[in-house]
Amino acid sequence: MDTTKDDAAMLAEAAQWQARDLAVLWHPCTQMAEHPHTLPLVPIARGEGAWLIGRDGRRYLDAVSSWWTNLFGHANPRIAEAIAEQARTLEHVILAGFSHAPAVQLAEELVRITPPGLTRVFFADNGSAGVEVALKMAFHHFVNRGQPQRRKFVALGNGYHGETIGALSVTDVPLYRRVYAPLLLQPLFAPSPDAYEAEPGESPEACALRRAEELEALFAANPGEICALILEPLVQCAGGMRMYHPVYLRRAREICDAHGTLLIADEIAVGFGRTGTLFACEQAGIAPDFMCLSKGLTGGFLPLAAVLTHERIYESFLDDSRERAFLHSHSYTGNPLACAAALATLAIFREQDVLGRNRLLAARMAELAAPFADHPQVADVRQTGMILAIELAADKASKTPFPAADRRGLRAYRHAIERGVVLRPLGDVLYWFPPYCVGEEELTLLADVTATAIAAATA
Ligand SMILES: *Cc1c(COP(=O)(O)O)cnc(C)c1O
Repeated sequence: MDTTKDDAAMLAEAAQWQARDLAVLWHPCTQMAEHPHTLPLVPIARGEGAWLIGRDGRRYLDAVSSWWTNLFGHANPRIAEAIAEQARTLEHVILAGFSHAPAVQLAEELVRITPPGLTRVFFADNGSAGVEVALKMAFHHFVNRGQPQRRKFVALGNGYHGETIGALSVTDVPLYRRVYAPLLLQPLFAPSPDAYEAEPGESPEACALRRAEELEALFAANPGEICALILEPLVQCAGGMRMYHPVYLRRAREICDAHGTLLIADEIAVGFGRTGTLFACEQAGIAPDFMCLSKGLTGGFLPLAAVLTHERIYESFLDDSRERAFLHSHSYTGNPLACAAALATLAIFREQDVLGRNRLLAARMAELAAPFADHPQVADVRQTGMILAIELAADKASKTPFPAADRRGLRAYRHAIERGVVLRPLGDVLYWFPPYCVGEEELTLLADVTATAIAAATA
C-alpha cells in the first residue's frame, strides 16, 4: 500500500474541512482572527477512548476531556448503544403534562446518589441554563414565602457559572464578564478561599477560615437581603483550577443557615467523581439547597443539566396560583436521549469501582507531576482528585504572573497539539482533566508532553 499517497490524501482532506469550517463557523470562546495562523484548527473524524482522531489521521490524547464533559471515553459503546436504542423508541416528548421512563429513572437515580435531602429534580439543557434555574428558583422561593426583599446573590471572587446573562452575572472571570458588565445583575462578591492566594506561611485551611470570616461579614452587612450564595465546591475550574480547603464549604453552609439564605452548589464541572468523591460537597459533609449538575452527567455525549433541591423549597411553589409555580421551561427539557445517556453513565458508576480506580490514577498523576514543582517558572502544582494543575509564573517566589500578552499558555497549547496531546491551558495554568478511562501509558505520554510544553512556554 502506498502510505505516502494516503497520508497526502488525508492531509488534503483535513485542509479542505478546515477551509470549509472557517468559511461558515463561528467558534466558541475563540478570537476567530487567530485561526488558522496563530491557532491551528483541528478537524476531528472520530473519537475512541481517551483519543481524538483527526481527519489527517493524527491521534490526539484528550487531556481536557473535551471541556470537562467526557468521563468514560469518546464513542463509549455502552452509552452510544443506550442513545441509539432510545432514539428508536422515543426521541423526545414535551415534559409538561407528559412523562417518560428515562426522565423518571434518571431523577430517581440522582436523588439516590446526591447528598441527603435533595429530593426534587428539574431538568435543563446545559450548565448555564441549570444555573439560571437555580438562581430563579431561589429568588422565587422567597417571593412565595413573602420575602421578596431577598434578591441579592452572593458569589465568590474568581468563580465561574456560565455565559448566559444570569450565570455570567455571578461569574467573576474578567475575561468573560467585563464587556457585558453593564447588562448584568450586581451580585455581592466574597473573596475566593483559593489556597494559591493564601498569605505566606498560611495553611490552605487557615486561608479558607479567614475567607469564611469575610463571607460572614458580608452576610452581616446585608441582613435579610441575601437570597442565595452560589459557589463551585473545592475547585474553581474556569478560574484557573484554583483549589480550596473543604472547611470553607462547612462554614458557608453554617453561615447560610444562620442567615436564612440558600446555598447553591454548582457541581457542573466537579461532580461525578472528578474530585475524588462522587460529589465535591461530600468532602465537607454538607448538603446544599440546590445542586447543579451537567457536563459529565451524560458521560460527555449530550447536553443536559439537572438542578436538585429540597422538598421544602419545592413545596413553597405549590398553590392554586399559576404565579407561584415555576413557569420556566426549555423546549428540550428532560430530553429522553440525553436522559438515556445519563442513565448509561450512572450504570457504569454502579457496576464499576470508578472512584477506586480514579484514586489510583490520581496517585499516579501526582507522581508524574511532582518533578514539575522544581521548575523555576512553575509557581504551583496542585491537585484535587482527577484535576491536576500547573501554574506558570514569571517569578516563582512572589508568584508574579507573566505578562498576559506573552501568551505563554498558548505556546504550551500549540506545542502539545504538535505532539498529539490536547492541553488547553487557562491563561498560564496548564492542567490535566483526563477522562477516567485513561491508562498508564497515556498518563506517561501526558507527563512527557507537559514537561516539554512547560519548557516551550517558558523559554
Ligand atoms: C461549564 C460550567 C458551567 C456552564 O455550563 P455550560 O454547559 O457550558 O453552559 C457552569 N458552571 C461551572 C462550574 C462550569 O464549569
